[in-house]
Amino acid sequence: MRISILGLEDERFIRPLQLIANLFFEESQIVMAVDGTADLQIKFVLRVGEAVSVSAELCDREGAVYFSNYQKELPPDDSDKERFKQVKNAVSHVYLTVLQDFSGITQKWGILTGVRPTKLLHKKIQAGIPMEVAHQQLKADYLITDEKIQLMQQIVDRQLSVVPDLYSLRQEVSIYIGIPFCPTKCAYCTFPAYAINGRQGSVDSFLGGLHYEMRKIGEWLKERGIKITTVYYGGGTPTSITAEEMDLLYEEMYTSFPEVAGIREITVEAGRPDTITPEKLAVLKKWNIDRISINPQSYIQETLKAIGRHHTVEETIDKFHLARSAGMNNINMDLIIGLPGEGVTEFAHTLAETEKLMPESLTVHTLSFKRASEMTKNKDRYRVADRTEVEKMMELAQDWTAAHGYVPYYLYRQKNILGNLENVGYSLPTQESIYNIIIMEELQTIIGLGCGASSKFIDPVSGKITHFANPKDPKSYNDNFEAYTDEKIKILEELFSENGSPA
Ligand code: SF4
Repeated sequence: MRISILGLEDERFIRPLQLIANLFFEESQIVMAVDGTADLQIKFVLRVGEAVSVSAELCDREGAVYFSNYQKELPPDDSDKERFKQVKNAVSHVYLTVLQDFSGITQKWGILTGVRPTKLLHKKIQAGIPMEVAHQQLKADYLITDEKIQLMQQIVDRQLSVVPDLYSLRQEVSIYIGIPFCPTKCAYCTFPAYAINGRQGSVDSFLGGLHYEMRKIGEWLKERGIKITTVYYGGGTPTSITAEEMDLLYEEMYTSFPEVAGIREITVEAGRPDTITPEKLAVLKKWNIDRISINPQSYIQETLKAIGRHHTVEETIDKFHLARSAGMNNINMDLIIGLPGEGVTEFAHTLAETEKLMPESLTVHTLSFKRASEMTKNKDRYRVADRTEVEKMMELAQDWTAAHGYVPYYLYRQKNILGNLENVGYSLPTQESIYNIIIMEELQTIIGLGCGASSKFIDPVSGKITHFANPKDPKSYNDNFEAYTDEKIKILEELFSENGSPA
């Protein structure tokens, strides 16, 4: 779909308009000029003064015309950046409306294309805006549907009941530890995940660097008297290293990190069932790991094969029982809606299998075509369900979780996600992951250690976010881990000393 945009000069509009077009059409291209080959032409009239007033008129090739207009006051003391954001939202508002009228598709998340919609509601709560007014604003400003506003409210309520001090956690930090190895690489994956076989040398060097980072950051936190709220081991698959290596790593955590006994939650992703052994479970138990993830993704064997997960359905079930009998009493399982070849029947089967296990939490992802994944590069080879079927599967997940006592407690969206839907974390009450809440709502600094680990530094006073990423490949990491550690300590120094944290 080629869309000619007229009446908007500022190039900063191109990206948001393109992102919204992507919600409607598989392939779309925005052209900011008159274009005789365009399928649609959209003419804007934009006026910005004390208020922003904008109209859009869409004409298709058959001569049908759709029209929308919108006006909103602009707060006089807003910064230029904030002002442009308001103007961009107003333009998106009329643009989305004419595209919805033209296509007959309602975008349940309105003009939002970002990853964390619930952050908007948290901000309104923190600003003291009453709930009903906040809901009206979300509907009027962003065109979010009532259904999604209800979901946001339910999630925010749940988060605040699980972490009542969520808005005052900025003086503490959480830690993410990235282990970049997996038994094999899955087709939809863009995480730093290197097939582990034949790489022992690289694993040894990587773990050497990781131990160093843990020691240095731990030392800094101890000196500063800064507490850790949660620790999360992700990757890759953190259980793809040996039981001995895991044992040494957790010992390092206990030795180097401050007050480990007081950390609210330690999670280890044991995502791939083919990595779980009785020895590794004993190590997890020995070091009081609270929560693990064992991820089936699907209970259909052909699907697992098609996406490159070299384990069987039985293995997932067996390893779940093994983990249970080893005393792991908070297990998360990830499922994916819309995997190649799957529709409502296959997903219903996956839910029926889930019912036999009843993990404490269940994360339901919607398949997304991430740019760098094998699946996206060879999109033609993977047949996936259409928008309507994906929505039906999502509804099935909502109904099934509600009927089985799970409540939604976090959500995030991704670009190119099937049906423009979302990923939702469900949990049996009191079993929610605190780390997942913290990372989604961006209310606390998360220090990333290891390969591909992103750090997100949140200024304890202003809330401003600074990103820092360790390299994704073990070689670059091994060559420079000392420098990355120093960089992070420098950023932490600036943030926490400026704000007079307990030094
Ligand atoms: S197990 Fe997870 S991290 Fe590893 S390749 Fe598969 S999706 Fe990627």
